[in-house]
Amino acid sequence: MEYEAVIGLETHVQLKTRSKMWCGCPNEFGSPPNTNVCPVCLGMPGVLPVANEEALRLTVLTGYLLNCEIPRFAKFDRKNYFYPDSAKNYQLTQYDRPSTANGWVEFEFDGSPTGVERVRITRAHLEEDVGKNNHFDRHSGVDFNRAGVPLLEIVSEPDLKGPDMAYAYLKALTDILARANVSDCDLEKGMVRCDVNVSVRPRGSEKLGAKIEIKNMNSFSGVRRALEYEIPRQIEAVMRGEALRQETRRWDDVAGITEPMRSKEDAHDYRYFPEPDLMPFAPTDEWLAEVRTRVPELPRARKLRLMRDFGLPDGDAQVLTDNLPLGQFFEAAATGYRHPKSVANWVINNLPAKLAETSTSLGDLKFPATALRDLVDLVESGKISSKIAQDVFAEMFATGMAPAAIVDQKGLAQVSDSGAIEALAAQVIAANPGPAADFKAGKAAALNFLKGQLMKLSKGKANPAMAGEVLERLLKA
Ligand SMILES: [Zn+2]
Repeated sequence: MEYEAVIGLETHVQLKTRSKMWCGCPNEFGSPPNTNVCPVCLGMPGVLPVANEEALRLTVLTGYLLNCEIPRFAKFDRKNYFYPDSAKNYQLTQYDRPSTANGWVEFEFDGSPTGVERVRITRAHLEEDVGKNNHFDRHSGVDFNRAGVPLLEIVSEPDLKGPDMAYAYLKALTDILARANVSDCDLEKGMVRCDVNVSVRPRGSEKLGAKIEIKNMNSFSGVRRALEYEIPRQIEAVMRGEALRQETRRWDDVAGITEPMRSKEDAHDYRYFPEPDLMPFAPTDEWLAEVRTRVPELPRARKLRLMRDFGLPDGDAQVLTDNLPLGQFFEAAATGYRHPKSVANWVINNLPAKLAETSTSLGDLKFPATALRDLVDLVESGKISSKIAQDVFAEMFATGMAPAAIVDQKGLAQVSDSGAIEALAAQVIAANPGPAADFKAGKAAALNFLKGQLMKLSKGKANPAMAGEVLERLLKA
């Protein structure tokens, strides 16, 4: 019998707000332990939470980004549990009335027959992060700087079919959120963490197997590796006739295995109840409309547009999508121009190479995007060779001068005057009697050598196509 995996992900993403969810403490990474804290986020008795409006906006914005419904009524609930990193003994979250529900995300995936997959989003709800336990040699400490940081939990339907697809989904999801400035999605700083739900069943069966949760994954490659381990483990267990039970496991990244952590709690174990200190959240039309204006062009839509509007190949469009500033520079240079692909070549290859070489960034450029288009046009119209264009580009980079002015000032214009080229050709033939004789004797390759000599003699300025033609004509005469 063949088995298949059924995978759903719960992705926790820290929101990009200045302050925490219920208090004015800074939402900052890397401060000394317990310096960004106050009575509210330390869970002192008698304090009252005040909702961070920007966090609510970013939650609803995420709903729009993920094609969700935005209910006109949402509320916060207490999820009760004891853990040392949660001083209040409960976490504020949205249980049965989340701020967004029933959406989907579409992304490119090589393993799919169509190259594109769609994963349904159950909900994206707002909650608060907890503190962080630090374990030292002889003691442990709790840092509450992270306690109360707004956290979005994005729950997918179990639509993911394997480790690679889970990886592609996470990449696409975080690209979207980063593009819309919902979160920096910096994995190194723990801004994205993931719980993986995975079960196996006979292929074609509708019934779901026992759901096993792998908790607190903090890298996408970790998620992929954990699934690569866990799916065969479950299949082997089922094939041995073992009954898998619902449980929570942890991933040991060093050993490359999952281990049992605890049997899974059910919702009723948390005794959820509505938070009495917060009003329900009922957004108005105006408020929603304002949030909607913050929806940017999303990566996949952008890539498809660049391919359609500029006729770029997939690879170019991908680079200009992944690197948004570079992509915007390209659009500023190529819009309305008839050789967008040539502009793309410069923007993708020469420009980043020069920026890296000089340790500068796009913001430091001394010339506007349109100057790059002018440079490309000098090549396209045959005024300068592509080799000379490199020198002009270096000069633009250094001084910010317009390319045409550089060409004039330095006398770099391509020589397309047949008289001048004939004079050069005659000189080259006279100086290289051997290769000239070889060509006359039928060695076609000798022409390339002579052409190279002519280009050298002209300091790269001769029109290369004309140089070849003229040499050939004189030699055959
Ligand atoms: Zn605080």
